Amino acid sequence: MFYIGCHLSAADGFEAMGKAALSIKANVFQFFTRNPRGGSAKAIKQADVDAFLKLASENNFGKILAHAPYTLNGCSADASIRKFARDTMADDLQRMEYVPGNMYNFHPGSHVQQGVDVGIDFIVEMLNDILFENQRTTVLLETMAGKGSEVGGKFEELKRIMDRVKLVDKMGVCLDTCHVNDAGYDIVNDLDGVLAEFDRVIGLKWLKAIHLNDSMNPLGAHKDRHAVIDGGKIGLDALARVINHPQLRDLPFYLETPNELEGYGKEIALLKSVRK
Ligand code: FE
Ligand code: FE
Ligand code: ZN
Repeated sequence: MFYIGCHLSAADGFEAMGKAALSIKANVFQFFTRNPRGGSAKAIKQADVDAFLKLASENNFGKILAHAPYTLNGCSADASIRKFARDTMADDLQRMEYVPGNMYNFHPGSHVQQGVDVGIDFIVEMLNDILFENQRTTVLLETMAGKGSEVGGKFEELKRIMDRVKLVDKMGVCLDTCHVNDAGYDIVNDLDGVLAEFDRVIGLKWLKAIHLNDSMNPLGAHKDRHAVIDGGKIGLDALARVINHPQLRDLPFYLETPNELEGYGKEIALLKSVRK
């Protein structure tokens, strides 16, 4: 099964996202758990969840991926900012239990002059606080572009976090093709080599999702500007190799390209046309 979808607005609830996905022939999707800047989350309605779960099972949907607000910083030097990240993510994980068995992705954070070791300490502490024994959601660390003091621009940093998380079986990694390109991993000319490196450092069994994006910037730019499919430095041929790679092809792929619903629909059709 080719699981392909895109980022959708959560404003109208789960069933509306399911219908939007169906309208563009997607069978997975990503959404923000709340306003991307943080803020309070809308109440979840059980009837909406039930309608979505029915639609998803009737249409053989794959796993949906929640994305934490991207402004959360669990490794800030400011204790109140760390607390806000921890409390928000803990609340998100409770809410994800309404749709059990899915995934929740977050950016490790930026250590801002404290150094990567201190940043990793804070991220580990947060995860050990918020993960709980009987949760049914898999929490994913996203590979980052290494912009500024971002943690997660190197596979080694993600590995160092996971090594110290007590409930590590609740964890996984989401690989963002734009971010790894910008971080300096050459998925255009050496996808096999990058995956071998991921396997050596983290282990491919931990890779649970792919953010499929082109990048406006060249290899190693440490920028993080997403481009539409085939509209950037990665290109369609390299992205086609990603979706067809034997070690990746069964993972769910989520587009986060600069698009509205119609543009996403065209990209999904294009990617299906190059899927082997
Ligand atoms: Fe992200
Ligand atoms: Fe991403
Ligand atoms: Zn990004």
